[in-house]
Order: sequence, then C-alpha cells, then structure tokens
Amino acid sequence: MTSAYVYLRQSKDVENTRAAVDRQRADCLDLCERNRWPVAEVYEDNDASASNPRKARKDYARLLADLEHGRIVSGDVIVAWAQDRLLRKVADMLVLIDLCAKRGIAVVTVQAGRLDLATTDGQTLALMAAVIAQGEMTKKAARQRAEAEQAASDGQAPSRRAFGYRLEGKGRKRRMVLDPAEAPVVRDAFDRLLVKGQSLVRITDAVNAAGLPSVRGTTLCRKGVRYLLTNPVYAGLRTHHGEVVRDDDGEPVRGDWPAIITEDEHDRAVRLLTDAARRPAGFRGTARRWLGSGLFRCGMDGCGSDVRCGYRSPNGGNGARTYVCREHAHLSRRADVIDDLVLRAVAARLARDDARDLLAGGDDEVTALRAEADALAAALDVARDRLRRGVYDEDDFVTEKRRVKVAQEAVGRRLTAAARSSVLGTLGAAPDPAAAFTAADLGTQREVVDALAVVTLLPARRGESSFDPATVRIDWR
Ligand SMILES: [Zn+2]
Repeated sequence: MTSAYVYLRQSKDVENTRAAVDRQRADCLDLCERNRWPVAEVYEDNDASASNPRKARKDYARLLADLEHGRIVSGDVIVAWAQDRLLRKVADMLVLIDLCAKRGIAVVTVQAGRLDLATTDGQTLALMAAVIAQGEMTKKAARQRAEAEQAASDGQAPSRRAFGYRLEGKGRKRRMVLDPAEAPVVRDAFDRLLVKGQSLVRITDAVNAAGLPSVRGTTLCRKGVRYLLTNPVYAGLRTHHGEVVRDDDGEPVRGDWPAIITEDEHDRAVRLLTDAARRPAGFRGTARRWLGSGLFRCGMDGCGSDVRCGYRSPNGGNGARTYVCREHAHLSRRADVIDDLVLRAVAARLARDDARDLLAGGDDEVTALRAEADALAAALDVARDRLRRGVYDEDDFVTEKRRVKVAQEAVGRRLTAAARSSVLGTLGAAPDPAAAFTAADLGTQREVVDALAVVTLLPARRGESSFDPATVRIDWR
C-alpha cells in the first residue's frame, strides 16, 4: 500500500505567502486523493523566517531523516507542489536521488508529475531542472543585492522601519514618515541622554513607560535603546549593512525622510554611548556620581583644562573619588568635599530673590522650535508632491530640499540649546528653586552649575590635610 509524504515550503519571494502555502497544500492533498494515497505525514518549512537557515529547513531535514531511517519505504511517494519547492540546490537533489533511487521511492509533483529517479534518464532530467533552478536563484539574489545597494546610495527609505517612523508605499515608491506617537518618544530619549545626562537604565524606563511596542512588538531592553540612540537613521542618514552610506566624495548619503535629531546630536550620542573611556559613570548602570567631571576647571598655574574623574588609591584598593586634570594630570583633588561645597554654594545662590531671573524658562522656545521643525518637514512633503505632479523639475526639487535641510540643521541646533534652558526653566518655576536644585538628579544639577558658575579647582596647599574651601574658586557667570 502506497503512503504519501507531503512536503510544503512557504517561500519568501511570494507575496501573501500564507495563501501560497495553503494553495500548495490543497493541490498536493488533491493529488493524493485522486491517486488514493493515504497521507502519512505533512512536512512544512517556512522560508520567510529564514534568518536562521537551519531552522527554516527543519522539516526538510526531518523528511530526509525519515527516508534514511526507513520510515518511508519502497512503493511510497514523496509529494511536492513543484520541484523547486522540494529542492533548492543541486546538492539537495543528489542527496534525494541517492535516498529515493536505492529504495524505490517515487517523487511526484503537482506541476510536473512523476520524477523517475530510478532511471539514469530520469535522474539526468531531475538534475538539469535543479541546475536551472539554482542558477535562477543565484541570479535573483544578485539582482536583489544590486537593487538594495542602489536604493541605499539613492538615500531611499530602508526596507525595515526604525522605531519612530512608519513606512508608506512599496518598492521604489517606499517612503518613511514620522510616526506621530513614536517620534516624540525618540526625541525625548535623545533629550534625556544629551540634555539631562540620564543613564541608559532611566532612558529605557522612560521609553517603555510610553507603552509603545518596539518594531518587533516587544518592550525595549537597554541594548535596544542603546542601538536606538546610536542609529544614524534618526539624523536622516542612510545606512546599509549597519554602515552609513557615503557618496563618491565620501559625504554621508542623506535619506529621504525627516530627521529627528541633527548630525551633531547623533555624533554626541555615539560618543557618549560607545567610547568606553569617555563614558561617564552613569552609563555603567548606576547614577552618575561626579558633579564636576568635564565641568570643573583645573586651576594649576592657570591651566584651564577640565577635570576628569578618578580614584586615589594609595594601597591599590578602592580609594577616594578625585578630580584629576584631564590635560596634564598635575592636579588631583578629593571630589566629595568639593561637590558638597559647590552644591551648597549654588543652593545659596538660588535662595536669593533674583534667582528666578537666572533661570528664565525655555519651554515656549522649545515648543516654537518644534513647530518650526514640523513646518520644515511639511515643506519637504510639499516639494516632493510638486515634483510628482510636475510643478517642480528635478533641479527645483534639489534646491528646495537643500534649503530645507540647512534650515532643519539650524533648528536642531537651537532646539538642543533651548531644551537645555528649559531644564533651568523648570527649576525656576519651582516654589523653592534652592530646594528643587538640592533634590534634583545629578544631570540637572550639572546643567544648573554649568549655567550659573565657573568652578576652578586650585591645588591644595602642601602639608594641609584638612579641606580648605578657599582652594575652590566659584566665579558666577
Ligand atoms: Zn591642569
């Protein structure tokens, strides 16, 4: 009695693949029915999930194992919709011929009928078909690669969207536009990193608090947020295989979609998140503990360099936190007493009546600049539309696009500055600015100190073991 073993493969190059595999199944089962072959097993692989090729061919491996271990016996048939569904490579065909011919197992396809693998002529025909199919596949892959490269150097929207954007249209008409819900979350994440100096942990919490699923439909992990914050796509730059695409002059290729940050902001975010040596403590998962690293100045002989953080560890153990001159390392001061002094001095300054004037708000400006950025993005849409309708020729469009890009970059720079003064504005609006400052996170405190004063660390006097406040100079701006 003949049993049928049906193999189905969902191919990634067919649109609406679910329907395609359902049709394969119906046709194959119909063929078995007409021949009165009971179906013993249905194998089904999904090419669409072929990021892992072994996983994508799991059931094919199972079919071969069933052949090898004698579950499928002489007189049985293997049924597939077409030969290229069953086999993708010449090597696959050789394996199949070997297994089927010896055991007298027939292969039948809906498209071409019985493949006679027991005779030399039948084997030759089957192999030739496999050779042709493999050649087509190789050519097609090369064509798709070339198309993807062309799309990248044209600055066309990538085939997969980034969080913050939506894809519209298909193929060459594909466009990426801002997602009204996600884009503000992305902008906020960058503000938290670049303006407030928050840690990745806090930024990740904030992104997930928005309640929007990631592109993959999950919550974002810290690694995902780091990837987001270093992705050039948000600065409007086109990438291919993870690299920014460059034109013949070595200039980065700008994408055809609205940027959420400026290139300058992108560079700063990458520096903050990828250069381990420069990474402030905050990015190791704990809150940033140095108030003055990169902020306070070295006062050794009028040096003027900023200070970095360090540890003074005379016995090789974990010693006291220190500030060290970044340029010359000729100055090293204990950090905790200095931080304490500066925090108290600034709080005292904020307790004075004129403090609110120092902290004039920037929120209105941020709102105005955001509106300006939206208007620029809209202007680009209008220009694109005019190009489509033939009102603009290619030159008009390029000129307009360049004008908008320049304006967008300028607005982006002003937004960064305004967002920063908006941190101060929030503090200025508090009932008690001094108390709000003392309670604020370190990132905010750093912003305020930087806005109000220049702090210079003078060398400690030799032999002096106790802290002398006079060695910390605070010049109010
Ligand atoms: Zn110095």
